[in-house]
Order: sequence, then structure tokens, then C-alpha cells
Amino acid sequence: MPVRNILRSFRFETAVATRTCDVSDEHVIQPEEKHFAYDEVPGQRKNICMNCAPGILKKAQAHLAQVMKELPSAKI
Ligand SMILES: [Zn+2]
Repeated sequence: MPVRNILRSFRFETAVATRTCDVSDEHVIQPEEKHFAYDEVPGQRKNICMNCAPGILKKAQAHLAQVMKELPSAKI
């Protein structure tokens, strides 16, 4: 059985219309602009502008690394 990807909703999209960054109401994502997106719950897309995307992804990466520390080393 293939391993499921629990982070598969993480992706980059190109906005078709104006979108607001989920981090700050003051960040506007213009049509045709690339931005990070993920589904907090299935079907509920969160849009993150390119200025905020690195911080959001680094935070998620650090969290995953922290959680992985609890795996028995023989399993990694
Ligand atoms: Zn933003």
C-alpha cells in the first residue's frame, strides 16, 4: 500500500482573482500572482502571499522536525 501524503494540500497556486493573504488582511494577492495555499480543513483553502509563505513553511518544517524527534531512531 502506498504511503499516504498527509500534507498533500500544501501547494502553490496562481490566483485567478484577487485574494487576501490569510496572515494579514493588508496583504493582497493579485490575479495571476503565485501564492502558497493549503486546506486547513478539506475544501477550505487558506491563501498565503509570497512574502508570508517562507515563514509559514519554515514554521511547519520546524514543527515536523520536532515531532519526528520522538520517532524511535531505528524507524527513520
Ligand atoms: Zn501575507
